[in-house]
Amino acid sequence: MVKHATTITFYGGVNEIGGNKILLQDRGTKIFLDFGQSFTFGSDFFTSWLCPRAINGLGDYFEFGLLPKLKGLYANEQLQFTDLLPTKKPDFRAVFLSHAHFDHVTHIQFLHPELEVHLGKGTKLFLETMEETSGFCNYGEHKYKMFRTGYKVPVDNIVIEPIHVDHSIPAAYGFIIHTSNGSLVYTGDLRMHGPRNDLTRDFLEKAVNCKPVALICEGTRMVEQEKRMNYSERQVEQISSQIISSTDKIVFVAHYSRDMDRLRSFYTVAKNNGREIVLSPKTAYLLNKLVDDKHLDLPNPLKDKNIRVYYKRKKSGKFDDKDYYVWERKFMDKMVTHEYIRKNQRKLVMDLDFYQFTELIDIKPDSGSHFVHSMSEPFSEEDIEDTIMHNWLDHFGIHFHQLHASGHLDKQQLMQLIDYINPKQIFPIHTENQHLFKKNYNNAKIIKYGKEYRL
Ligand SMILES: [Zn+2]
Repeated sequence: MVKHATTITFYGGVNEIGGNKILLQDRGTKIFLDFGQSFTFGSDFFTSWLCPRAINGLGDYFEFGLLPKLKGLYANEQLQFTDLLPTKKPDFRAVFLSHAHFDHVTHIQFLHPELEVHLGKGTKLFLETMEETSGFCNYGEHKYKMFRTGYKVPVDNIVIEPIHVDHSIPAAYGFIIHTSNGSLVYTGDLRMHGPRNDLTRDFLEKAVNCKPVALICEGTRMVEQEKRMNYSERQVEQISSQIISSTDKIVFVAHYSRDMDRLRSFYTVAKNNGREIVLSPKTAYLLNKLVDDKHLDLPNPLKDKNIRVYYKRKKSGKFDDKDYYVWERKFMDKMVTHEYIRKNQRKLVMDLDFYQFTELIDIKPDSGSHFVHSMSEPFSEEDIEDTIMHNWLDHFGIHFHQLHASGHLDKQQLMQLIDYINPKQIFPIHTENQHLFKKNYNNAKIIKYGKEYRL
């Protein structure tokens, strides 16, 4: 590397959606932007029960080149069975996380504990909740540092400015990064059709004002032609309201558990239609943690009379509190069971994701009930889970509805963003279609894994 050069290197999110790991080097200072796991991570070598052994640390991952082999990046205990030598201090200063989605954060679990992890307050809360409520989730020990929008975080010669954006999870940020060789803009994941597009607008203002030498731009929906149906959050509310108001049967909904905009939409629609909404203890727990943040405007699951919490049969089958995890017990005053659901079907909207479908056997929903799938459509037509989901719905005579608002800009909006920010260079990430950036912009690069690019 030239002595005063600033470079970026992509170790994830290259020709795929998610798994962003972007290394920025400036006068010897090294930081990462995001450190996630891609959705297809390791799928060429591992499947269902054939998975990397925790006991071998990073050994099984390095075998297949699944994580970048960089000295001074990882926790020493992860390196025990590898040929990377342990280091007392990390060779990297920090990682900045744009938001709490799996494909942006998961691999921080392997990082050296002395490396600083900078993240939004909300992101920290999501990570904590994941660790508390899911048995297998552990992000490791880190020096966490929390930022808010507009902070200017110095790391040697670099100054990182996180600016809020609208995405399908609260506390999402893009970054404006001031380096020794000009400003770099990183979008993270973002959208304009959500309820908080004002946040994305704030980010765009900052991005254009810094006259960036480079833009690292997400391109999830940079596709030749959009095949999936996408709605705005407002439309999701309107259409689900039509479904609910035109039936006297129960309406089940499945959505990403941390998409708080979607949860608010279904809560509002249920309430406006005179129905209670039934949540899982996990969703109630998360909601309870977020309720203090006035910006999010979420209902309190402990106090709101329109919210009920569904408890599955466990152990004794008598719904004794000792049968449940301590974190689950908090909502037992709001408890409903399958019997309540069966008796009150016409008065309810119930959160029920695919992995909870066995509850339908206890609930016995009336034929002609409804299921709103408020998530992305399956990526392939041979999706096994999709087939199984439809088998279950057919078995119970439940009507299926696909109804989703994406967390990402579409192609036209992406191009508007690029035109508006007008960067000198464009680096497409988090996309399967880099060539479409190149087709429309001469200054777009086709990025390669592990290659160093100068700003
Ligand atoms: Zn995301």
